[in-house]
Amino acid sequence: MVTNEVRTRFAPSPTGYMHVGNLRTALYTYLIAKHDNGKFILRIEDTDQERYVEGAVDVIYNTLNLTGLHHDEGPDVGGEVGPYIQSERKGMYMEHAKNLVDKGEAYYCFCTKERLDALRADAEARKVTPKYDKHCKHLSKEEIEKNLAEGKPFVIRQNNPTDGETVFEDEIYGTIRVDNSELDDMILIKTDGLPTYNFANVVDDHLMGITHVVRGNEYLSSSPKYNRLYNAFGWPVPIYIHCPPIMKDSTQKLSKRNGDASFEDLLKKGYLKDAVMNYIALLGWNPGTDEEIFSLEELVGKFDYHNISKSPAIFDTVKLTWMNGEYIKALSPENFHELALKYYEQVFSHDKMDILDLEFISSLIQTRLGVLTEIPDMVQMFNELPEHNISIYVHKKMKTNYENSLEVLEKALPILQNLEPWTVESIEKTCMDLVAEMGVKNGLVLWPLRTALSGQPSSPGGVYEIGKIVGKEESLKRIRVGINKLKTEA
Ligand code: GLU
Repeated sequence: MVTNEVRTRFAPSPTGYMHVGNLRTALYTYLIAKHDNGKFILRIEDTDQERYVEGAVDVIYNTLNLTGLHHDEGPDVGGEVGPYIQSERKGMYMEHAKNLVDKGEAYYCFCTKERLDALRADAEARKVTPKYDKHCKHLSKEEIEKNLAEGKPFVIRQNNPTDGETVFEDEIYGTIRVDNSELDDMILIKTDGLPTYNFANVVDDHLMGITHVVRGNEYLSSSPKYNRLYNAFGWPVPIYIHCPPIMKDSTQKLSKRNGDASFEDLLKKGYLKDAVMNYIALLGWNPGTDEEIFSLEELVGKFDYHNISKSPAIFDTVKLTWMNGEYIKALSPENFHELALKYYEQVFSHDKMDILDLEFISSLIQTRLGVLTEIPDMVQMFNELPEHNISIYVHKKMKTNYENSLEVLEKALPILQNLEPWTVESIEKTCMDLVAEMGVKNGLVLWPLRTALSGQPSSPGGVYEIGKIVGKEESLKRIRVGINKLKTEA
């Protein structure tokens, strides 16, 4: 396929989850195409899969859909260069491999497993990297034909030179040179007639007209061999954009094996998808300014892949949580409330859900969250008075101690008992009247009351809001508990 437009592809292997690193590759791949009004293609690379993972492809579709990385071509949307699932392309690779054999760029190899094992063992004993010794490269035409006619199992290997060097350009890592003596004659077609992952990847990228190959830098070391394949075929080499690794800390890579977050895990942990996408966009790329909050649309406009960095990016949960908090704050009250509801259900009974002014609770907590999963703990105090120690009544700045706290609660109780109607404004007025009557600063009245109502050193909302939410009866009950505690425990 010959094309003038930018065509990129996201080529995940269906593993059953979306690793953060893969999602970042998908995002960059999408942005590079869209920044240039090009096409973003989805190809499922399932040929090398050890085992079939139920629903694994759906995870890919769902994630792309949810995050807005809509592909222009792919297994589910079609396109001119399909099929887009590698296992459905099985028949397309052998002829290409044979073409390379004809050109002398590849050869049949009939070596038995025993011979290959012996080669490997020998290399290991000599502490050198195992490498195929080109034994079958030297078979005569007759020998090859005889073996094929006898139906001997074979693989087809790439024929790499043993001297000189292979040079290739990566947009991020620059010019990379590799001594050809280091290149193994990798297998292109396996004994079962199917392509290896590496071979299928190159053939597909070419047949699908991919102009920019975007992927993790773990593929950087395979790229010289890929390059040799393009050259052997006489195909144009795509632009390579290898992305830096994402690290958990300065030494460890972020990996599923270490129990690090996949995209699904992050959502479960209470991160918003848009915040995650914004955050991972900055893992290895920056816009060249201090700006940090970007919608996907803004990223499309700003994303210049030349600004991708080659230094490893550290996945900083603190920063992500900050960014998530910003995204939570920016939600409309309705949207936030909608998201908060499922967390309220973890805390409040059905009856409580009906009585409580949940919208009001939402308005109090929306600006206080890093992640949504903090909600249950944060609203628990509206459900029941938490166990607490009376030491929280003592506040230096508010000038409160056990004695004056008790005095305030005892004075407030009868006034609040008679208060009608029970509203935020009426509670406020009551408190302010008490402040005036006692001739003290606001804090001296408000702190003991807030503490009695919340049972916590800090709370979403103050006296008026908590009082209104838990209701008159419960408020009076909590104040009585406070009085009792201060009398007996101080
Ligand atoms: N299928 C590979 C992976 O899931 C991607 C390789 C590539 O993009 O070239 O890691």
